Amino acid sequence: MRVAALWMTETASKLCCVNGLRRTKVAVAWRPHIRMRIICINVFTWGGLKVREAIKERLGRHGVSATIQRLDIAEILFAAPQHMSAEQIIAELKLTGKNVSKATVYNTLNMFVAQGLLREVHVDPERTFYDSTTAPHHHFYNVDTGKLTDIPANEITLERLPEVPFGTVAEGVDIVVKVRNAT
Ligand SMILES: [Zn+2]
Repeated sequence: MRVAALWMTETASKLCCVNGLRRTKVAVAWRPHIRMRIICINVFTWGGLKVREAIKERLGRHGVSATIQRLDIAEILFAAPQHMSAEQIIAELKLTGKNVSKATVYNTLNMFVAQGLLREVHVDPERTFYDSTTAPHHHFYNVDTGKLTDIPANEITLERLPEVPFGTVAEGVDIVVKVRNAT
Protein backbone atom coordinates (compact mmCIF):
# COMPACT_ATOMS: atom_id res chain seq x y z
CA MET A 1 0.00 0.00 0.00
CA ARG A 2 2.85 2.35 0.85
CA VAL A 3 4.48 1.69 -2.51
CA ALA A 4 1.14 2.29 -4.25
CA ALA A 5 0.67 5.56 -2.37
CA LEU A 6 4.14 6.75 -3.34
CA TRP A 7 3.50 5.77 -6.94
CA MET A 8 0.24 7.69 -6.95
CA THR A 9 1.79 10.78 -5.39
CA GLU A 10 4.55 10.83 -7.97
CA THR A 11 2.12 10.31 -10.84
CA ALA A 12 -0.20 12.98 -9.46
CA SER A 13 2.57 15.54 -9.23
CA LYS A 14 3.60 14.80 -12.81
CA LEU A 15 0.09 15.41 -14.05
CA CYS A 16 -0.66 18.28 -11.69
CA CYS A 17 -1.03 21.11 -14.18
CA VAL A 18 -4.35 21.14 -16.03
CA ASN A 19 -7.49 20.79 -13.91
CA GLY A 20 -8.80 18.79 -10.99
CA LEU A 21 -11.78 17.10 -12.60
CA ARG A 22 -9.96 15.75 -15.59
CA ARG A 23 -7.03 14.54 -13.49
CA THR A 24 -9.40 12.72 -11.19
CA LYS A 25 -10.99 10.93 -14.13
CA VAL A 26 -7.59 9.90 -15.50
CA ALA A 27 -6.43 8.56 -12.17
CA VAL A 28 -9.59 6.56 -11.52
CA ALA A 29 -9.36 4.97 -14.94
CA TRP A 30 -5.76 3.94 -14.33
CA ARG A 31 -6.16 2.26 -10.97
CA PRO A 32 -9.59 0.80 -10.28
CA HIS A 33 -8.73 -0.56 -6.81
CA ILE A 34 -10.95 1.25 -4.32
CA ARG A 35 -8.24 2.20 -1.77
CA MET A 36 -6.07 3.56 -4.52
CA ARG A 37 -8.97 5.59 -5.81
CA ILE A 38 -9.31 7.39 -2.49
CA ILE A 39 -5.62 8.29 -2.34
CA CYS A 40 -5.61 9.41 -5.91
CA ILE A 41 -8.69 11.63 -5.74
CA ASN A 42 -7.37 13.28 -2.58
CA VAL A 43 -4.02 14.06 -4.16
CA PHE A 44 -5.57 15.35 -7.35
CA THR A 45 -8.24 17.46 -5.68
CA TRP A 46 -5.64 19.01 -3.41
CA GLY A 47 -3.46 19.76 -6.43
CA GLY A 48 -6.40 21.25 -8.35
CA LEU A 49 -7.35 23.54 -5.46
CA LYS A 50 -3.80 24.81 -5.08
CA VAL A 51 -3.56 25.54 -8.82
CA ARG A 52 -6.91 27.36 -8.76
CA GLU A 53 -5.88 29.43 -5.74
CA ALA A 54 -2.61 30.44 -7.43
CA ILE A 55 -4.50 31.47 -10.57
CA LYS A 56 -6.97 33.48 -8.49
CA GLU A 57 -4.06 35.40 -6.98
CA ARG A 58 -2.53 35.97 -10.39
CA LEU A 59 -5.80 37.43 -11.73
CA GLY A 60 -6.09 39.61 -8.64
CA ARG A 61 -2.58 41.02 -9.14
CA HIS A 62 -3.70 42.18 -12.60
CA GLY A 63 -6.92 43.73 -11.34
CA VAL A 64 -9.20 40.97 -12.65
CA SER A 65 -11.88 39.63 -10.32
CA ALA A 66 -12.02 35.84 -10.39
CA THR A 67 -15.41 34.60 -11.56
CA ILE A 68 -15.81 30.85 -12.01
CA GLN A 69 -15.76 31.17 -15.78
CA ARG A 70 -12.65 33.35 -15.83
CA LEU A 71 -10.93 30.81 -13.58
CA ASP A 72 -11.95 27.97 -15.91
CA ILE A 73 -10.44 29.80 -18.88
CA ALA A 74 -7.32 30.91 -16.99
CA GLU A 75 -6.73 27.37 -15.73
CA ILE A 76 -6.40 26.12 -19.30
CA LEU A 77 -4.22 29.01 -20.48
CA PHE A 78 -1.84 29.20 -17.54
CA ALA A 79 -1.31 25.45 -17.12
CA ALA A 80 1.96 25.84 -19.05
CA PRO A 81 3.69 28.34 -21.34
CA GLN A 82 1.65 27.94 -24.52
CA HIS A 83 -0.11 29.51 -27.49
CA MET A 84 -3.80 28.77 -27.98
CA SER A 85 -6.48 30.09 -30.31
CA ALA A 86 -9.91 31.02 -28.94
CA GLU A 87 -11.33 27.95 -30.74
CA GLN A 88 -8.84 25.65 -29.01
CA ILE A 89 -9.79 27.10 -25.62
CA ILE A 90 -13.51 26.63 -26.38
CA ALA A 91 -12.84 23.01 -27.40
CA GLU A 92 -10.82 22.36 -24.22
CA LEU A 93 -13.58 23.81 -22.04
CA LYS A 94 -16.11 21.54 -23.75
CA LEU A 95 -13.84 18.53 -23.28
CA THR A 96 -13.62 19.12 -19.54
CA GLY A 97 -17.38 19.66 -19.21
CA LYS A 98 -17.16 23.40 -18.46
CA ASN A 99 -20.12 25.41 -19.63
CA VAL A 100 -18.74 28.73 -20.90
CA SER A 101 -20.30 30.56 -23.86
CA LYS A 102 -18.20 31.63 -26.86
CA ALA A 103 -18.96 35.30 -26.14
CA THR A 104 -17.67 34.92 -22.58
CA VAL A 105 -14.48 33.27 -23.85
CA TYR A 106 -13.80 36.11 -26.32
CA ASN A 107 -14.63 38.83 -23.76
CA THR A 108 -12.43 37.17 -21.15
CA LEU A 109 -9.50 36.80 -23.55
CA ASN A 110 -9.77 40.49 -24.52
CA MET A 111 -9.84 41.44 -20.85
CA PHE A 112 -6.81 39.25 -20.03
CA VAL A 113 -4.89 40.88 -22.90
CA ALA A 114 -5.89 44.40 -21.79
CA GLN A 115 -4.78 43.63 -18.23
CA GLY A 116 -1.42 42.22 -19.30
CA LEU A 117 -2.15 38.58 -18.41
CA LEU A 118 -1.89 37.40 -22.00
CA ARG A 119 -0.30 38.51 -25.20
CA GLU A 120 -2.01 38.40 -28.60
CA VAL A 121 -0.04 37.03 -31.53
CA HIS A 122 -1.55 37.83 -34.93
CA VAL A 123 -0.32 35.27 -37.41
CA ASP A 124 -2.58 36.53 -40.20
CA PRO A 125 -5.80 38.59 -40.28
CA GLU A 126 -7.87 35.49 -39.52
CA ARG A 127 -5.65 33.78 -37.00
CA THR A 128 -4.89 35.05 -33.52
CA PHE A 129 -3.14 33.12 -30.80
CA TYR A 130 -3.15 33.91 -27.10
CA ASP A 131 0.30 33.56 -25.57
CA SER A 132 0.63 32.88 -21.85
CA THR A 133 4.22 34.19 -21.96
CA THR A 134 3.99 37.96 -21.81
CA ALA A 135 7.74 38.75 -21.77
CA PRO A 136 9.04 40.08 -25.12
CA HIS A 137 9.86 37.34 -27.64
CA HIS A 138 9.22 36.40 -31.27
CA HIS A 139 7.71 33.36 -33.02
CA PHE A 140 8.07 30.76 -35.72
CA TYR A 141 4.74 29.87 -37.32
CA ASN A 142 4.57 26.61 -39.23
CA VAL A 143 1.99 27.08 -41.99
CA ASP A 144 1.73 23.29 -42.50
CA THR A 145 1.05 22.35 -38.89
CA GLY A 146 -0.44 25.63 -37.59
CA LYS A 147 1.99 25.45 -34.67
CA LEU A 148 3.57 28.51 -33.10
CA THR A 149 6.91 28.22 -31.29
CA ASP A 150 8.87 30.82 -29.35
CA ILE A 151 12.04 32.58 -30.48
CA PRO A 152 13.89 34.25 -27.57
CA ALA A 153 13.98 38.04 -27.98
CA ASN A 154 17.81 38.10 -28.08
CA GLU A 155 17.90 35.69 -31.06
CA ILE A 156 16.78 38.44 -33.44
CA THR A 157 18.62 41.74 -33.78
CA LEU A 158 17.25 44.63 -35.78
CA GLU A 159 19.75 46.95 -37.49
CA ARG A 160 17.32 49.75 -38.15
CA LEU A 161 13.65 50.49 -37.81
CA PRO A 162 11.77 52.94 -40.05
CA GLU A 163 10.49 56.12 -38.48
CA VAL A 164 7.14 55.57 -36.88
CA PRO A 165 4.15 57.46 -38.36
CA PHE A 166 3.68 61.02 -37.15
CA GLY A 167 1.99 61.28 -33.78
CA THR A 168 2.78 57.70 -32.73
CA VAL A 169 5.43 55.96 -30.64
CA ALA A 170 6.76 52.42 -31.05
CA GLU A 171 5.14 50.02 -28.57
CA GLY A 172 7.10 46.91 -29.44
CA VAL A 173 8.28 44.68 -32.27
CA ASP A 174 6.64 41.28 -32.77
CA ILE A 175 8.22 39.16 -35.47
CA VAL A 176 6.51 36.06 -36.84
CA VAL A 177 8.78 33.98 -39.05
CA LYS A 178 6.64 31.76 -41.25
CA VAL A 179 8.08 28.34 -42.04
CA ARG A 180 6.81 25.22 -43.76
CA ASN A 181 7.85 21.59 -43.53
CA ALA A 182 10.80 20.81 -45.76
CA THR A 183 9.79 18.28 -48.46
ZN1 LIG B 1 5.16 32.89 -27.51
